[in-house]
Amino acid sequence: VYPLRMRLLDGLGVSRAGGAMLSPIARDRSVLQHHFSRGTARRILLQARPFTIWLIVFAVTVLLGSATTVLPMLLFQRIIDDGVLTGNTDLVVQLALLVAGLALAGALLTLLERWCSARIGEGLTQRLRCQLFDRVSTMPLAFFTRSNTGRVISRISGDVAGAQQAFTSTFSQALSSTTTLLLVLGSMLVLSWQLTLAALVLLPVFMVPAKLVARRAARLARLRMDHQAELTDTMTERFTVSGAMLVKLFGDPRRESRMFEEQAGQVARDGVRMAMMVRVFLSTLTLLGALGTALFYGLGGSAVIEGRLSLGTLTAMVALLARLYGPLTQLSNLRIDLMTAMVSFERVFEVLDLKPSIYDAHDSIDVPGPPSVEFDKVWFTYPTASEVSLASLSPEAGREKKRGEKVLSEISFYVEPGQTVALVGPSGAGKTTITHLVARLYEVEYGAVRVGGADVRGLRQASLRETVGYVTQDAHLFHDTIRANLEYARPEAKEEQLWEALEGAQLADFVRGLPEGLDTMVGERGYRLSGGERQRLAIARLLLKSPPVIILDEATAHLDATSEHLVQQALDVARQGRTAIVVAHRLSTVRSADLILVLDKGRIIERGTHDELLAADGAYAKLYQRQFDTSG
Ligand code: ADP
Repeated sequence: VYPLRMRLLDGLGVSRAGGAMLSPIARDRSVLQHHFSRGTARRILLQARPFTIWLIVFAVTVLLGSATTVLPMLLFQRIIDDGVLTGNTDLVVQLALLVAGLALAGALLTLLERWCSARIGEGLTQRLRCQLFDRVSTMPLAFFTRSNTGRVISRISGDVAGAQQAFTSTFSQALSSTTTLLLVLGSMLVLSWQLTLAALVLLPVFMVPAKLVARRAARLARLRMDHQAELTDTMTERFTVSGAMLVKLFGDPRRESRMFEEQAGQVARDGVRMAMMVRVFLSTLTLLGALGTALFYGLGGSAVIEGRLSLGTLTAMVALLARLYGPLTQLSNLRIDLMTAMVSFERVFEVLDLKPSIYDAHDSIDVPGPPSVEFDKVWFTYPTASEVSLASLSPEAGREKKRGEKVLSEISFYVEPGQTVALVGPSGAGKTTITHLVARLYEVEYGAVRVGGADVRGLRQASLRETVGYVTQDAHLFHDTIRANLEYARPEAKEEQLWEALEGAQLADFVRGLPEGLDTMVGERGYRLSGGERQRLAIARLLLKSPPVIILDEATAHLDATSEHLVQQALDVARQGRTAIVVAHRLSTVRSADLILVLDKGRIIERGTHDELLAADGAYAKLYQRQFDTSG
């Protein structure tokens, strides 16, 4: 049972952490108009099921806790009427000790209650977070290209926090306010129903203006949160490496500083107004309490003189009055709080309900044959945002209705195990897209992609991943050590195997020269490594995994000659003895390829070996003269 002041502040949406951690969807009356899909409540209960025991313990604790706050008031009556007024010192002492004992028990129960609610809240949060993480992780690549990462993450952190609040604060408040209110009101009615009625009549006179202030304060709290979010946005945008660079190169420090000052000033002004509003609200309630007390002493005092009321009863009534208004205020805000919590849950469930479009079929098999790759009349268009994501997670979803133009049209080719196919053609021709389809990162629209002789849709995804390895253009590295980045591909790899892979990727000397060797951290997105080193690390990762089919994107154009040479050597090592599909930019690659596919606007316009295609003097010959680095 929180102290009254805290509960009032909670009711305003002001958290005890100082107002910074407001619930993600600030309390808003508009939630009352929200229509919940049927079953949300049932699903919430289902999520809470593992915590049934704790919930029961919690409810009992709350009940007992409320009793320990109300019982002493009733004892006051006996202390005065039966003890003080009859001169029974023993009884006074006994009852006083009992009051002290109840206070102690109350304090212990508060601890137990908090412990239960924290356990339930945190446990539920963990459960929901893990479920969300697993669900989002299994979504196909298209989901990530089409969804706004920030929004997805805010679901996993923000809305889960909202759901947690439902249990740790809303639910516990509801329960304790209700029980306290019932006990207090019941006791008061039994003691003196006339005074009780007087207290209740006084209530609306103050509650109505107080509620109005509370509503304004809540609105202000939301506004302040928006302003704070702006402030945070400004900082996060500018304090990333690329953001800081932009500011340094193009920004005006005075303008930046003025803008930030303006934003920070807004937050400060909101803070002052908010503080005043909260004060007015609290003062009104304090006044209400004080006036109620005056009324009690006035009315009740005369009644005592006339002998219609005992002195002890009056004392008990005054004490009970102080406990009446708090829970009442609490409960008046409860509906909004509950609905807000429901919205959080609903947003969480919405993500949990996403259907991964690419998954293992019941009868999926491992890659059956030697590592060949075949495209059989493949047609492909990238899915629209609404097909793969939620409108609330993707800014574009809902706007575009139909899929766009065909990205691949009737693509057919066959790569025998151990052979290399080079994909060439202008940018945007569909080369990268072809490579994406091999590992089933996207689903083909018509036709089939086969690996090892079997349609990828019938293969176990894990088996397909083991068979096909990628080195993409911008090789992503986790913000971790070189060792961890390598081991990600093969957690059980031994030290020698790591070095062997680095050796093959022409990176061993470089890593040996680093102060911390394999344990050197590679910064956010591998910032401390040059582009070439990063690519070679990605190649080392591939060599460590050692898949029979490799997909390489030879975007070496932005590398200097030495680095390019090293990357080239590493790629040649990687190709040895493997089936390879290479997005080729280098003459040496196309020359040695067993088959070159020339793509344009999603179609294969020419195919053959380097010599054949040169002799044909078609598109490839032209491309050859223009594009390929003849020094390679
Ligand atoms: P290349 O690798 O030959 O430069 P891509 O395969 O990357 O070409 O792109 C082929 C076409 O597909 C381009 O028109 C491009 O705009 C489009 N495209 C690529 N990726 C996506 C995506 N994730 N969503 C929608 N369209 C895409």
